[in-house]
Amino acid sequence: MQFRDLRAQYSRYKEEIDLAVESVMQSTSFIGGKEVSELEEQLAEYVGTKHCISCANGTDALMLVVMAWGIKEGDAVFVPDFTFFATGEIVAFRGATPVFVDVDKVTFNIDPEKLELMIQKTIKEGQLTPKAIIPVDLFGLPANYPEIEKIAKKYNLLVLEDGAQGFGGQIKGKKACSFGDAAITSFFPAKPLGCYGDGGAIFTNDDDLAALIKSLKVHGKGTDKYDNVRIGVNSRLDTIQAAILKVKFKAFVDHELEDVNRIYHLYNERLKDIVEIPVIPEGYYSSFAQYTIKLESKAQRDGLQAKLKEQGIPSMIYYNKPMHKQGAFADMKFDEDDYVVTNNLCDTVLSLPMHPYLTGEDVDKVCKVIREFV
Ligand SMILES: *Cc1c(COP(=O)(O)O)cnc(C)c1O
Repeated sequence: MQFRDLRAQYSRYKEEIDLAVESVMQSTSFIGGKEVSELEEQLAEYVGTKHCISCANGTDALMLVVMAWGIKEGDAVFVPDFTFFATGEIVAFRGATPVFVDVDKVTFNIDPEKLELMIQKTIKEGQLTPKAIIPVDLFGLPANYPEIEKIAKKYNLLVLEDGAQGFGGQIKGKKACSFGDAAITSFFPAKPLGCYGDGGAIFTNDDDLAALIKSLKVHGKGTDKYDNVRIGVNSRLDTIQAAILKVKFKAFVDHELEDVNRIYHLYNERLKDIVEIPVIPEGYYSSFAQYTIKLESKAQRDGLQAKLKEQGIPSMIYYNKPMHKQGAFADMKFDEDDYVVTNNLCDTVLSLPMHPYLTGEDVDKVCKVIREFV
C-alpha cells in the first residue's frame, strides 16, 4: 500500500500524459508557451479569480506575494504554528518577523480568537508593525476565512491564503485559493493537484499586484526580460509540467476530488467510535491532502505507527515539531502557554494513506489494524 499512490494515477492516465509530454518535446518550446498560459486560464476560471500566475514552486509563490507587498524588516506577519516550514520561512527570508499563532483543536487551522489576541499583543509591545496574515488550508481544509477576513479588516492587515495543500477545497461553494487579497498553491507531486516535479501558482483579483508579480518573477522585467526596472527573481513553471498538469487537472475535477471525499467517509465510518477523526465544519469541503487522526497520547500514536509499519501500512506525522520550536527560530522568544494546542497535536496526530486510488479493501485493512491496536 502506498501513502499517496502516484503510480496508480500515472498508470490510469499514462497515454494522455505521455502524449502531452511528447508534444512539448516535439515543439522544443520548453519555457512558457501556450501550455503554461492555457493552464493559468483554466485554473483561474476554476478557482474564480481574475489572475493565475504560475511559478517554480509553492514557496516561491508565497515569497513573490510577500515581496510584491513590500513586507520587510520590522513588519509582523501572523502565521499558524502548525504548518509546513515554508509558511514562516519566507517571512523571515524577507527580513520580516513571523508571529506564530496557535491553531484550533478541531480543525487544526489558525485559531481566529488567538489570532486577534496575538495581533493585539504585537501592537501593545510596539516593536513590530502588523502587516499581514498567512492562514494555511491545512491538510486540504480551508482556514476560517469568514472570521479571518473580519479581523484583517479591523486591523487593516493583508491576507495571503497558503493553499499549498488546499487546492480544491471550498467554503459554501467559494473555492480555495480565492480567499484573502492573494492566494497561492503548490504543485509538488504529493499535493492535491501535483505535477511531476516542482511547480506553484499565485491567484488574485488585484490587477496591480498581478502585474507586479509578473515582473518580479522574470528578473523585475519592464517592457521585456532585457529591460529590468526592479530586482526580481527567476521563477517559472516548466512547460512540460504545465502540459502534465493540464491532464491531471482534468482528472482532479472529473473524479479525484470526489474520490478522496468518498474515502474520507469510508475511514470515518470505521474509525469514528475509537479515535478522533477529521472534522469538516458545516459548509466546508476539503480536498484531503491528508486524512489525519488524533490519538490519546504520544505513546499511543507512536505505538500505532509502529504497528501499522509492521503490517506494511505507511503513515506519516505531519507535523512533528511546531514552528516555534524549529531551530531556525531559536533566537526568538516564545511563551509555551501560547501554543498549547499545537504542542499537543505534534505529539498525537497521525496521517493515514490517502489518495484517490485507494480501494475500499485498503481502507478496511488500515482500519482493522487501528481497531485492534486501540
Ligand atoms: C508544500 C507546502 C508549501 C511549499 O510548497 P513547495 O511547492 O514545496 O515549495 C508551502 N506551504 C505549505 C502549507 C505546504 O504544505
